[in-house]
Amino acid sequence: MALKIYNTLTKSKEEFKPIHPGKVGMYVCGPTVYDYLHPGNLRSYMTADVLRRYLEYHGYEVRMIKNITDVGHLTEDSIGQGDSGEDKISKKAQIERKTPRQIADFFEEYFHAAEKKINIKKASFFPRATEHIQQMIKIISSLIEKGYAYEVNGNVFFDVTKFSTYGNLSGNTLDNLKVGARLEEHPDKKNPWDFALWLKAPKEHLMKWESPWSVGYPGWHIECSAMSMEYLGDTMDIHAGGEDNIFPHHEAEIAQSEGYSGKKFVNFWVHTRFLLTDGKKMSKSKGNFFTLEELEEKGYTSMALRLLFLSGHHRTQLNFTWPALDQATTNFQKISEWANNLKSIESRGAGSRVSMGEEIDFSHIYQKRFEAAMDDDLNTPLALAVLYELITETNKLIAEEKLSAATAKNIFNFWEKINKVLGLAIADREEIPKEIIKLAEARKTARENKDFAKSDELREKISEFGYEIDDSKNNNYTIKKK
Ligand SMILES: [Zn+2]
Repeated sequence: MALKIYNTLTKSKEEFKPIHPGKVGMYVCGPTVYDYLHPGNLRSYMTADVLRRYLEYHGYEVRMIKNITDVGHLTEDSIGQGDSGEDKISKKAQIERKTPRQIADFFEEYFHAAEKKINIKKASFFPRATEHIQQMIKIISSLIEKGYAYEVNGNVFFDVTKFSTYGNLSGNTLDNLKVGARLEEHPDKKNPWDFALWLKAPKEHLMKWESPWSVGYPGWHIECSAMSMEYLGDTMDIHAGGEDNIFPHHEAEIAQSEGYSGKKFVNFWVHTRFLLTDGKKMSKSKGNFFTLEELEEKGYTSMALRLLFLSGHHRTQLNFTWPALDQATTNFQKISEWANNLKSIESRGAGSRVSMGEEIDFSHIYQKRFEAAMDDDLNTPLALAVLYELITETNKLIAEEKLSAATAKNIFNFWEKINKVLGLAIADREEIPKEIIKLAEARKTARENKDFAKSDELREKISEFGYEIDDSKNNNYTIKKK
């Protein structure tokens, strides 16, 4: 395997090599649980899911950590530092007259249900920020000791001028930052681009903890450093997230983690670009986003959305439009139909004799092409194009009655293998019972012997069991449930 992944840190495609042979440690920035899931976040979780699935396809054992941010830091859509002091979860709790825990629990459960709907494999562990406050305090204390961080009035900030490679990930080096991008002022900061590690809580703040500096709460970025190092060690193979996480969040994670451990934090940074709606960035604040439930109400499935996401490369902005979702729905039906047809041809062959075509195995050619596409920085649109070509080729053979049960079986096995990567949950057309296949085969023999009375009698019998036979050329047939 020669999987190449684009690494945001080096700005190039690099061959993936794990730290420990056969094992991969991977961290994904998870949801802040105060609202329904944003489809742009789902798309970014899906990139991580497909990458994880493809690593597993190649036999790696993947340990994936996805954190639950249940301390609701305020962040702007674009460039907020996450240290303005307002807590989204607390705010929601006040509006809804619930406790922050009730809000966080509700949306955490919702998040898991949404991931399940779109068939994202469960992470190995979903650590909660509120359960790792002590680890955060430990890292912050050490950063103060080492001179990377300073405390003023119970607030602790990371001094970005002390970390020489600050800006390497995002390009927002201090020189570039000085040119005047927007920033959040805080009277206690030495430099405007310093970011909060710990903030003193105002009286009305609902979520707060004891610390050596004040009764307060952690800055947004520190939780990911604490939880990733806790579960994956000081250096991990892959860290994934959305492109909006690159700055300041991931830049800050590198500064905190490397300042603390003195080691390289992440080998591969993988970022998914924005999801757009009609050419504009989809965002909560713009109100142009939808939930999976709203899609379902319109008659779409989460699987169509998954296929739509797969049809775009994760490093390209994907423009969501309803016609694109319609197309994905049609394509999903085409794939389902095809897979079920292969299965029924295969099971008919297993019943008695091979009825159509010769045994030819061309799946290995497609497998090579599929892997070449995925090896090239997870090129899922190209991998799907390979699949669609295979579908066209097999459907032609089926129409010409040249696809043998053995070939159908090979292709179906190939499909099952690659679908572990694509993750399309296809409903099984109901398995046809063996007895029905036997009766259908007996009827076929009767028809070949021109014994039409017997053939009609058998059709009747099959019908009594609730199945229907469609005859096609050369005495072939398909069985359907009535
Ligand atoms: Zn994070």
